[in-house]
Amino acid sequence: MTTDNGQRSTVEQTVDKILHGNIRATARLIRDVEDGIVSSRQFLKALYPHTGTAYVIGISGFPGVGKSTLVDQMIEAYRAEGKSLGVLAVDPTSPFSGGAILGDRVRMQRHGTDPGVFIRSLATRGHFGGLTRSTQGVIDIMDAMGKDIILVETVGVGQDEVDIVTTAHTTIIVLIPGMGDDIQAIKAGILEVADIFVINKADREGVKKTINDLQAMLDMNTQRKSKGGWRPPIVATEAIRNRGVPELLSQIEAHKAFLFSRTKTQLNKRLRKRVLQELTDNIKETVMTKIMAELEGSDEFEQMIDDLVKRRTDPFTLCDRIVAEKLK
Ligand code: GDP
Repeated sequence: MTTDNGQRSTVEQTVDKILHGNIRATARLIRDVEDGIVSSRQFLKALYPHTGTAYVIGISGFPGVGKSTLVDQMIEAYRAEGKSLGVLAVDPTSPFSGGAILGDRVRMQRHGTDPGVFIRSLATRGHFGGLTRSTQGVIDIMDAMGKDIILVETVGVGQDEVDIVTTAHTTIIVLIPGMGDDIQAIKAGILEVADIFVINKADREGVKKTINDLQAMLDMNTQRKSKGGWRPPIVATEAIRNRGVPELLSQIEAHKAFLFSRTKTQLNKRLRKRVLQELTDNIKETVMTKIMAELEGSDEFEQMIDDLVKRRTDPFTLCDRIVAEKLK
C-alpha cells in the first residue's frame, strides 16, 4: 500500500468514526481544527459531503445576559422534541483562557452525559484564519455527525461575533432590560443581522421600555425594511425559570419557515454567505501558509524583518512586494 493510500484509509477510518458518533475521534479532530493543524483540512474535506442537514442557530450577547442559561433550556426543549444537538460555545474575547472559562460552564452540564447532546467550546488561539474558520469547521463536523440542531453561542457583540453568528441560519441576539445605551452602541453592527431578539431576565424592571426602545430602533432601520419581509420579533424570556422558551422556539421555527419559503431567496442568500465566508477564509489561509513556508527561515526574510525593525521599510510596502512576487 502506498503512503497515499495509507493516508487515505486513515482519513476514511476517522471520517467513518465521526459519522458514527465516535466522541474521541471527533474531539481529536476538533482540537486539530482549533489549533489550525493543516492536516485537519483533509478530514474536513472528506466530511463535507455529509454536511448540510443541520439547522444552525447563533446566539450572541454581552457576557452575563444569560446566554448559557438560555442555551441550557433550549437544549432541554429540543431534546424533549427528540432532536439531537451540537452545542458550540465560542469566546473570541479570551485569548488566554484557552476555552477554560467556557469549558467550565456548569449551566449546560446536566446535558453532559446525554448522548444526544455534543457540547464543545472554542477560544481564540491567535492562529491565522482565526476563530470564524475554526467555528465553521466545528459546525461542519457536528453537522456531519448528524446533529439536527447546532447551537452556536458567542460572547460579545463585536465584529468577530457578528461574523460568527451570521453564518447561522437563525441569529438570536440576547439583551436584558435597561440596556438602552448598550443597544445604541451595538446597533450599527448587530441589529442588522439579528433575526430574533431575546430580552432575557424579563423578571427585572424595564422590560417594556427596552422592548419599546428596540421596536423604535427597528422601525428606524431602513436597511432592515428592505430585507425581504422578515421583521425580527422580540421575545421576552426568563431563562432561569424557563419562561418564554417555547415562544422562542416557535419564533425560530417561524424564521426557519420564512427562510425555506416558496421563493427560497432568503435561504439562498444565507447559504451563499456561509459558503463564501468559508471559501475566502480558506483562500486567505492557504495563500498565507504557502507564502510563509517559502519565506520563513530564508536570509531574505530575515533581512526583511530587520528592515522593518529599523524602519527602513513598512509592512504595507513589503506585503505588496511579497504578494506580487509570490502570486506571479
Ligand atoms: P452568559 O454569560 O450570557 O452565558 O450568562 P449566564 O447564563 O452565565 O447567566 C448569568 C447570570 O444571570 C447567572 O447568574 C444566571 O443565573 C442569571 N440569569 C439567567 N437568566 C436569568 C433570568 O431570566 N433572570 C434573572 N434574574 N437572572 C438570570
